[in-house]
Amino acid sequence: MLRRAVAVELEVPKGVSKLLYSVETAYLNIVREVVEYAVVNNVTSAVKPHGLFYSKYRRGYPGLHAHLIIQAIRQASQIAKSFVERKKRGLVSKPYPEVKAVSIRFDETTWSYDQFIRSIAPVRLSLSLLGERKEVWLRPHKRFWFYWWRVLSGEAELASTLIVKRRANKWYAVFVFEIKPREEEPKSIIAFDINENTVAVSRVDLPSTVDKVADWNRQYMVPELYAIKTDFGKLARRYERIRNTIIEKLKPEFALPNGKYVNVTSTREFRKQVRKLRERDRKVGRVRHVANELAKTPAIIITEELGERPQDEMISDLESGGLRHRIKQIPFKALERVVEDKALERGSKLFRVSSYRNSRVCPIHFVRLKSTDEWHTLQCPLGHYVDRDYASVMNMNWKLTQEAWTKGVWWNMRRKMDWR
Ligand SMILES: [Zn+2]
Repeated sequence: MLRRAVAVELEVPKGVSKLLYSVETAYLNIVREVVEYAVVNNVTSAVKPHGLFYSKYRRGYPGLHAHLIIQAIRQASQIAKSFVERKKRGLVSKPYPEVKAVSIRFDETTWSYDQFIRSIAPVRLSLSLLGERKEVWLRPHKRFWFYWWRVLSGEAELASTLIVKRRANKWYAVFVFEIKPREEEPKSIIAFDINENTVAVSRVDLPSTVDKVADWNRQYMVPELYAIKTDFGKLARRYERIRNTIIEKLKPEFALPNGKYVNVTSTREFRKQVRKLRERDRKVGRVRHVANELAKTPAIIITEELGERPQDEMISDLESGGLRHRIKQIPFKALERVVEDKALERGSKLFRVSSYRNSRVCPIHFVRLKSTDEWHTLQCPLGHYVDRDYASVMNMNWKLTQEAWTKGVWWNMRRKMDWR
């Protein structure tokens, strides 16, 4: 099941805002206490904390709806569980997680879910706040209506749990839509490969039926090869320069009497300025652009199997510190995740093939390629040149059929192979 969360600002009158703040404070206290307990005692289930804490909080916060207490304890257990797991893998250094803010989960008994889903154009909802039902208006926008339309047409459902959270002084309701993945026949086969500044794509449009995939014949297939510009590497390089400029500018302010400098990057001022650059947002935008492009028609999408930390594998044999940094900044996993998500939504499927020999073999003659003076260009013993990135995506494409796979990957054993 696919999920999409849509945040809609709430129009909250003063009195209601006060109530929301009180609920938030109580909820946060519960989450913090339970998280601390669960982490210290290595508890990863929600059952035990519930048994231990529920009646205590019912007494401690008599106005708070019982189901909000239940949700808070459950949320705390989830936070604790993921923390304990990350701790086991050595990914955290703190003794327990710092819960700075919470999003309050209203299950269907604590907000007007039934009424809401029966409406054709819902513009308000009511929340149970400290013993009172309070009505608030929504400020819905295009994205909300887009998913709401899908609810009305039966393509999506609204989850019964409503998340309410605060950013600065504004309150938002986060609606979770569960979208039914579409089932459609693939119209093309697309292989993509992520490089420093581009994503290389090989697209083969399929004849109308899937059956024909089985008897693929290479003469009918002329893959379209192109690259989508991402400039992740360039972006990283640019931000690195900007960051260095900020460091240089801040240095005098953080000079110590002995002439040395405090580590500027750990100062609040530096973090504040870096945050303003919105590097992450820009990257996310580019990732979405690539995903949209790849999943625009229903397709079989092929990509390389990525390891746990693809960047580390790629840079193990790279000398230059600059390139190393840039590759670290390429959001491989994020890109794959977004593509897979979009693919499901649009009726495509994602397949992962091994990266073995992807850029070593001529995708036309299935013989080993030789390197040239130019790292990006490879030469086929039969005379022509091949772009490394395109060889790689085309070979990924071939791996989907058994014959091509054996030819392409085991090219040096071709005489010993039984092609059937
Ligand atoms: Zn060749």
